Amino acid sequence: MFLLRDSMADDMTAPLLSDSESSPDAQPVCPSSRTAVILGSGDFSRSLAMRLVGCGVRVLVGTRCVNRIPSGLFPDAVELKSQEGAASQVDCVVFMALFPEHYSSLLGLRSALAGKVLVDVSNAAETNIRGPSNAERLAELFPDSLVVKGFNTVSAWDLQTGAHDGSKQVSICSDSANAKRKVLQLAQHMGFHPVDMGGLSASREMEAAPLRLFPSWSGPILVTFLLFFFFYGYGFLRGVLLPFLAQGHNVFYRLALDLVNESLPAVALVTLALVYLPGLFAASLQLWRGTKYRRFPFWLDKWLQCRKELGLLSFLCAALHGVFSICAPLRRVTQHKSIIAAYKQVEAGVEEPWDEVGVWRSDLYLSCGVLGLGVLSLLGITSLPSVGSSLNWREFTFVQSGLGYSALTLSVMHTLFFGWDFAFHTEAYSFFMPPSYVVAASLPCAVLVCRCFLLLPFISTRLGRIRRGWESGHNCPVLQGHPVVANGISQQV
Ligand code: NAP
Repeated sequence: MFLLRDSMADDMTAPLLSDSESSPDAQPVCPSSRTAVILGSGDFSRSLAMRLVGCGVRVLVGTRCVNRIPSGLFPDAVELKSQEGAASQVDCVVFMALFPEHYSSLLGLRSALAGKVLVDVSNAAETNIRGPSNAERLAELFPDSLVVKGFNTVSAWDLQTGAHDGSKQVSICSDSANAKRKVLQLAQHMGFHPVDMGGLSASREMEAAPLRLFPSWSGPILVTFLLFFFFYGYGFLRGVLLPFLAQGHNVFYRLALDLVNESLPAVALVTLALVYLPGLFAASLQLWRGTKYRRFPFWLDKWLQCRKELGLLSFLCAALHGVFSICAPLRRVTQHKSIIAAYKQVEAGVEEPWDEVGVWRSDLYLSCGVLGLGVLSLLGITSLPSVGSSLNWREFTFVQSGLGYSALTLSVMHTLFFGWDFAFHTEAYSFFMPPSYVVAASLPCAVLVCRCFLLLPFISTRLGRIRRGWESGHNCPVLQGHPVVANGISQQV
């Protein structure tokens, strides 16, 4: 697959839909023209016609019943014809804007469509369909036509939103190079970024693509939800249910906000640690194996691939924690507790309730939290493709690894300052259960310690060499009968 916009500078000068280039296909595709035919008069047809007319292309729409189309549905410039009438005037491209189950109803147009480019815009009805794609079936039904798959990932809405709002990629594939080139040119003329996907067999993947529901997000979302339920359940058991059962202490009001705001930072912290943990596993494996040329286990490969999604989910949880925390002073229970605390101080005759250590502690944990969230948001912004692609490899690594570890360190410090020395008090372990933040901080602390370990000079030097292609002796490929240079030492084999 390659992005056509980089390689089409020459094609830009060629006339739209011209047939002047030498074709690898035996048949000429179409004469010089700016006419496109659309079969079908539904939503896609209407939007496509609008876009084509807006780009200066003559459009003929072929319908089963011209009289049924209300006036004003299509732009005035569009000519409405019967299916046969439109097919008889095709000189080049025909968009099949109907559902694939109705393709066979067009078999009577076979001879009129022979040698023409048929663009299949349909999508699959289900994701796991076996056998030929809609486009391949269309090619079987019209063996004398040149079938191109394309525009199926563009919605009718996208087609309508302005001829030059071409931020969308359009995937196109065909077994006919000449026919594909015509459609690629037309797509570019319409303001899209065409992407050549190769032969017609790629249409199976292309037809299933619009039906997929966040394929790379399912694992990270599941992990985040499981973590949330774990921490929420843990907090409920430790802070609500057990105190109620043991002491009759009713604090069920904590379920709505308190426990959620207690679980979110824990999830954010663990998820962020999970972003950096697979990198540590990968580095350890490379060190142990003494080579980078052996594949990682499948699970580690998968885990490495979903780091971006895990990072963004960590950012979401951290941002929600920030908003929940800002709302905390508005809570009735907070106001009630402040009044009670003030009343108790007055009653006890305390005149200066200033708590120097408490002030430092709250300022430090708030400061680390805000800074950590700021760095995380920077990471989130650089994960946007448009921003990420403007960075070179070193800049990207600096942001994702250097700043990423800074965000993790700040988040851990935020948690540790919040916990202060309470984690060392026995009363913090009610019902023999440590507080949530102690549970949450364990994995990130371990990740940071391991990272520091990998930064030790004798380890980082070896890892750096392995990543530049060096291999330990037992991994080196031996070329029989040839002198080989392994790890800088010449050997005669
Ligand atoms: P639609 O609104 O239901 O239009 C389908 C059209 O097919 C009908 O208006 C009808 O036009 C025509 N047709 C021709 N022969 C037919 C027959 N025997 N029985 C029934 N209809 C027949 O559907 P659409 O949304 O435009 O979608 C058309 C194709 O575009 C589908 O393959 C779809 O997967 C694809 N697509 C649509 C979108 C989108 O956003 N809508 C996006 C990407 C791809 P006449 O009555 O004028 O003949």
